[in-house]
Amino acid sequence: MINLNDLDDDQRAAATAPRGPVCILAGAGTGKTRTITYRIAHLIDRGLISPNRVLAVTFTSRAAGEMRHRLSLMGVGGVQARTFHAAARRQLAYFWPQVAGDLPWKLVDNKFPLVGRAARGIGIESSKENVRDLLGEIEWAKASLISPDEYPGRMALSARTPPVAAEKVAEVYRRYEAAKTTQDGMLLDFDDLLLHVAGALEKAPGVAEEFREQYRTFVVDEYQDVTPLQQRVLNAWLGDRDDLTVVGDANQTIYSFTGATPNFLLDFSRTYDHAVVTKLQRDYRSTPQVTDLANTVIAQAAGRVAGTRLELQGMRPAGPPPVFETYDDEPTEAREIAGKILSLIDNGTPASEIAVLYRINAQSQVFEQALADAGIIYQVRGGEGFFNRAEIRQAVSELVRVAQRTDLPDAPVAVTKAALAPLGLTPTEPEGAQARERWQSLVALVELVEELVRATPDLDMPGLLQALKQRADSKHPPTVEGVTLASLHAAKGLEWDAVFLVGLVENTLPISHAIKAGDHQVEEERRLFYVGVTRARQYLHLSWAMARQEGGRKSRSQSRFLDGIAPVQKPEVIPARSARSRRCRVCGQGLATPADKVLGRHEDCPAGADAEIFETLRSWRADAAREAKVPAYIVFSDATLMAVAEAMPSDEAELLDVSGVGPVKVDRYGEQLLGVLDSFR
Ligand code: ATP
Ligand code: MG
Repeated sequence: MINLNDLDDDQRAAATAPRGPVCILAGAGTGKTRTITYRIAHLIDRGLISPNRVLAVTFTSRAAGEMRHRLSLMGVGGVQARTFHAAARRQLAYFWPQVAGDLPWKLVDNKFPLVGRAARGIGIESSKENVRDLLGEIEWAKASLISPDEYPGRMALSARTPPVAAEKVAEVYRRYEAAKTTQDGMLLDFDDLLLHVAGALEKAPGVAEEFREQYRTFVVDEYQDVTPLQQRVLNAWLGDRDDLTVVGDANQTIYSFTGATPNFLLDFSRTYDHAVVTKLQRDYRSTPQVTDLANTVIAQAAGRVAGTRLELQGMRPAGPPPVFETYDDEPTEAREIAGKILSLIDNGTPASEIAVLYRINAQSQVFEQALADAGIIYQVRGGEGFFNRAEIRQAVSELVRVAQRTDLPDAPVAVTKAALAPLGLTPTEPEGAQARERWQSLVALVELVEELVRATPDLDMPGLLQALKQRADSKHPPTVEGVTLASLHAAKGLEWDAVFLVGLVENTLPISHAIKAGDHQVEEERRLFYVGVTRARQYLHLSWAMARQEGGRKSRSQSRFLDGIAPVQKPEVIPARSARSRRCRVCGQGLATPADKVLGRHEDCPAGADAEIFETLRSWRADAAREAKVPAYIVFSDATLMAVAEAMPSDEAELLDVSGVGPVKVDRYGEQLLGVLDSFR
């Protein structure tokens, strides 16, 4: 049943707005996903649309499964909820004969060899790293709707650094595209699916008419991370119609590196000037302690996106303050956290309500080890899917076998329990990690069966098997009683009672390549941190380790995003450079803000630099930026120029010592910069 009282006034206004353009632009945990789910249910319930005319697009197939599930709990079935790619794949399979006749096509299962061959063809060594970089670049270009011919021109205008010379990337891209047309038909990559769907709808009126007859209402979640290519598909779906609801949070844009952009979200009310635009501020997910920290984190962001943020108001009752911890090394960090997880579980937090989130997948290893050692069951998100597990595959085939018997007296739940007993479904949890994990999976399967029967009381065995198959296909596993290990990117849109944000060190978060690339990418890393913080309902634990290995050199520094929010802990061996940047060189006191650190002094402590030198450096920077066709801050930030003016370095080594100046910059601008300074000596 749909109870619109489950929504607050603002959410309800968006959910019940008439069919037409609706945009919810709001922060984390404010109920965006909940509101669109209710909107779909409400429109259907009121008979304003029929379920099979709705297409809901979510960011992951798991989120799509979740949406279908929530809708089915409200008694709404038959809504298509899919990712852009999954939707496009189905549509293309259907329309292909109309646009391409009997020309066969299939999905490329591995782009690597194709790109590798293209690279070798023009004399680029096809090492794994090279090919991965080139592939990433080609994917970015396709998602950004940039053709091989346009690529070099676009790069000249962009702050993006291509992995090899732009012309070479373009040639590899061209050859890769050509290699997909073979004698046996066409090979399509994921982006081609989208391109072909858009192309078919744009160019074949018959296809467009049939499609638009079928789908009339569109809903997009996580719209801040839509790419120009996906937007083109969305436009093609819509034609000149406007029955579109989008929701997103520009401050959670974390996929820019793939070509995603929040601009479509931010410009929505300009595109549809009659759109209903709703902003939500009440955060129903987290305690005020968590939202306070989230607000502090995002308050430090800069730029157009940051300008759209709203202060989150935590609606949950007060909870514990966030915990900040520094550990000697990573294995200790992991071990201590496993211990804390054990006590959370002992105190009643279900394991499935606990997550450990990290920046890169490789960080999971040490935590997997520590959790396994502590006997804690966990699952790595993005790892092996539930229905792919050996015990679940075995259990489902057993159910299929049992279902063939004609003399089944019992209801599906009883049949399932009986069938799974010989496979290890004992009445109580067994000893031993392996047996326990198996048992947990089987229990999860029984719980899923119970849930399905609750939703459809007259479900029989064939119906049950079909429902299970649907679940397996949608990769939507029931919640296994295990702790989640996931990357921050994979954690988007999700929530847990307790969240451990781990490995918060410089060069991991922000990641080193973002630091090298400059402010833009560091801002995206900050948003990633914000996404992490806002996943927690109640308990939030933030940690980092000074050394990678036990007994290793404690040379790491805590993430800059912790500066000013966490108590400052100094590494045992303080590298000269970070030591210098942490104390004000005028008054000797500690420095908190990133800008102060770059400057090496408090902003309001008297500058040692000559204003004339600073101004001359700025006008030099303007020339350099114009010549390189990049914004000025990409060359050097104001704070860095000020630091240079104050330090007056006399050679490249001294220049390198100035905070904010790296080897790449010295290489590119060192000579010119020193020349400018020389004229003042
Ligand atoms: P994100 O930006 O992380 O995707 P979101 O805006 O989509 O977050 P939801 O996931 O929809 O937020 O909601 C966050 C949590 O708050 C969920 O547990 C949801 O059920 C709950 N919630 C949302 N609105 C309300 C409400 N009006 N009353 C009670 N709980 C609510
Ligand atoms: Mg959401």
